[in-house]
Amino acid sequence: MKTTLVTCTLIAAGALLVNSTHAQTLPANVKKALADTAKSAAASAPKKTSIADKTKGNKKMEGLFTVYLDTANGNTQIFVSKGQLGKKYIYQSFSENGPASLGLNKGTYRDNAVICIKKYYDRLEFQRMNTNFYYDPANPVSKSADVNQPEAIFLTEKIVAEDSTGYLVSGDGLFMGEKLDQIKPTFPPGIPPGAVFNLGGLNPGKSQLVKVRAYPLNTDVVVDLAYDNPMPFNGGGKDIADARFNRIRVQHSFLELPEDNFKPRLDDPRVGFFTEEVTDQTSISPTPFRDMIHRWNLVKKDPSAALSEPVTPITWYIENTTPVEYRDVIKAAGEKWNEAFEKAGFKNAVVMKVQPDTATWEAGDIRYNVIRWVSSPYPAYGAYGPSFVNPLSGEILGADIMVEWYSGSFTPVYDEIFNNPGSPAMAGSNLPLNVTTATFAGATQPAQQALANSAKPEMCNMAAELKMQFLTGVTALEAAGAPDNELKEMHKQFLYYLILHEMGHTMGLMHNMKASQMLSPAEINNTEITHKLGLQGSVMDYPAINVSLDRSKQGDYYTTKPGPYDLWAIEFAYTPTASETEEAAFRKRILARSNEPGLMFGNDADDMRAAGKAIDPRVNVNDLTSDAVGYADDRFKLVNLLMGKLKTKYARPDASYAELRARYNLLNGQRNSMIAAVSRYIGGVYIDRSFVGETGATKPYTPVPLAYQKKAMDVLARNVFAPNAFDADAQVIPYLQTQRRGFNFFSTTEDPKVTAVYNTLAVGAISHLLHAQTLQRITATRLYGNQYTAVDVLNDLTRAIFDADINGNVNVYRQYLQTTYVKALAQMLAERGGYDDIAQAAARNTLKKLKAKLTATPAANEEVKAHRGNLVFLIDDATTVK
Ligand SMILES: [Zn+2]
Repeated sequence: MKTTLVTCTLIAAGALLVNSTHAQTLPANVKKALADTAKSAAASAPKKTSIADKTKGNKKMEGLFTVYLDTANGNTQIFVSKGQLGKKYIYQSFSENGPASLGLNKGTYRDNAVICIKKYYDRLEFQRMNTNFYYDPANPVSKSADVNQPEAIFLTEKIVAEDSTGYLVSGDGLFMGEKLDQIKPTFPPGIPPGAVFNLGGLNPGKSQLVKVRAYPLNTDVVVDLAYDNPMPFNGGGKDIADARFNRIRVQHSFLELPEDNFKPRLDDPRVGFFTEEVTDQTSISPTPFRDMIHRWNLVKKDPSAALSEPVTPITWYIENTTPVEYRDVIKAAGEKWNEAFEKAGFKNAVVMKVQPDTATWEAGDIRYNVIRWVSSPYPAYGAYGPSFVNPLSGEILGADIMVEWYSGSFTPVYDEIFNNPGSPAMAGSNLPLNVTTATFAGATQPAQQALANSAKPEMCNMAAELKMQFLTGVTALEAAGAPDNELKEMHKQFLYYLILHEMGHTMGLMHNMKASQMLSPAEINNTEITHKLGLQGSVMDYPAINVSLDRSKQGDYYTTKPGPYDLWAIEFAYTPTASETEEAAFRKRILARSNEPGLMFGNDADDMRAAGKAIDPRVNVNDLTSDAVGYADDRFKLVNLLMGKLKTKYARPDASYAELRARYNLLNGQRNSMIAAVSRYIGGVYIDRSFVGETGATKPYTPVPLAYQKKAMDVLARNVFAPNAFDADAQVIPYLQTQRRGFNFFSTTEDPKVTAVYNTLAVGAISHLLHAQTLQRITATRLYGNQYTAVDVLNDLTRAIFDADINGNVNVYRQYLQTTYVKALAQMLAERGGYDDIAQAAARNTLKKLKAKLTATPAANEEVKAHRGNLVFLIDDATTVK
């Protein structure tokens, strides 16, 4: 296997200036005179400052790079040996303390790069290498490697002293700023000042070195970077002590390139691993990809054995800050992955240990893989499993798992639901009363969250999603009067799943949002099946918690083992091969299995969590079973059932109604998730990524069958659009009181604005169906099998939204729903660029028919008359040529 070709040219500037062969031809006397002159010049020249002078009294920290700290003023210097010039090093940065709202919270893995240092006259240049391309050295074109892909020179430092072995330069420019890694997130375009909290300008004078951990193969430099923002427009959240002054703790880690004969394994679209993307610039293939998956370097102790221990196992430490009662569950979940590695020929590949209380190393030390705990003011995730790699090979060099303390909690915490931008549950009182039609352009991320996520694109925010699912399970059990040990069992399964999932990320696995489709509703509660296979094809999904509507049939709440897909993926990634021929045969054999039951795969790019995004509805979050629509129908029933029990259960004596209100929002969050799972089937397209001729392969694109699209429409009609869809909530609404805290009702009146909640749910359903991309696809797929036309979809929607009360009273919820629908159709006509002609024709046709329908029957009362008068006005306004 050839490795990626990355060159780092070394300029030896001094060597160009002396012509030594010429000097040898001079007569002896001339030579002596020249030598004497040189000697006397050297004697009269000012004495060069030595490294010893420049570092006198400094604290010296010897490691991969030796760092000197001036203990009088805090300045740093770095010594670069001559042997280190031109060599490639891995750079990895971490944020160790900072606001989650900027993605700078503890344990966040940031930049990963290959850097190189070279000498240019009297200074050292620090370069970042471009690792995106490969050139086959046997191809003459490889001589032009590096052309049109300039390296980034991010810093030059004047040499302050040197000796025969190397050079001393200031370290402050390298460590005390953003040259290595951009810490302050770029302000999102189009966001007005004050809309988001951000850092001000870097203040090097207030920035300082915290510590250096120096080892032969790596040097970690931990610094506090200070930022000043004298007049901030946005004060940030409660985690910000003073928005004018912030300090961010960052760790810069430098590592020697490993010399361990690691063999990169190339990626494949049928299985989901994080990768280093590399394009072969000398290939004539239509897919000249040499993308290398992220994987650990596992080598068999006994290469001839079918099952062998690895020379170096993947060793994990459970941080000694971990609550004692959780340690056994975490250890068992980690060790459970060994089942998967046995498929690849390794036993005891994963070793789980507890960090002793007497340990002298810290969790931030990159030589240790640690499951760490934090309790953040605004947790952006429940857990997060990052790793870092050698960008030249994809070899995973280290990993951590960060678990938020709130993953241990059984109660919805106020801030989690109402103030956390990552929370999928809805905060009724924070929504505008009239949800604007702008929503139909597709849900956009809140700006602050977008800013936070920009720091870590591979972020796993399983957190909020899984926690909300877990709390729904808790509510269901508590409402049913389940005993404590059952609640504890549910929490155990939740934590076990969380660790299995994050551990999977650290093995290199990306999300598999299709995996929760493995079992049918009839199988999902059958523990004979689920204990053998798991509930899902993979633990890398964000499933709905499996809470059975019928308690007597309850099986497992979460899957408790890596699923068939996980076993297959680990086998693909980690099975050793001895030669390129063996590798090719192995790949062909294992990848041909991609259509076996349980091996289905689709990642975050394929998932349909946002309206209008992606195309295959089976790839989604918060869904479960191969009949996700039917499963969601049951979940709507469960939510209605629980609504009826909320007051009895959560209006607790001697307490305010805050918990009742949080549970109410939680249950509406469930409705929101179900709407997002169900509505995507309308206009959906099933994807098959099989290669040509593979067993079980179908066509790459198959529109969802008409009957199933209609089933989805029916579930939405009954549970979201029907006049009685939210009747179960009526008994709770007068009790939805937020507890007064200080003056928290100043900016908004405190009454529960539930019409906004229900309208948001309706918008959630409509926004996907009326999204320009969905409607365009509904029409395009008719060319290859879709039987549900845009006109049919709008007819069914209109029926569901208008027919039930056309001859009677229209309740408040339906008045908002009907108005929202008409506004959305009007917007389709106005937005000529966004919608295709057939979608616009369908909208115009619908509005015309709707006007006829609304004017054909007399209104039951004046309220209905006023409402319909407004609708007709909106229709006329939208359809009249101006
Ligand atoms: Zn994840």
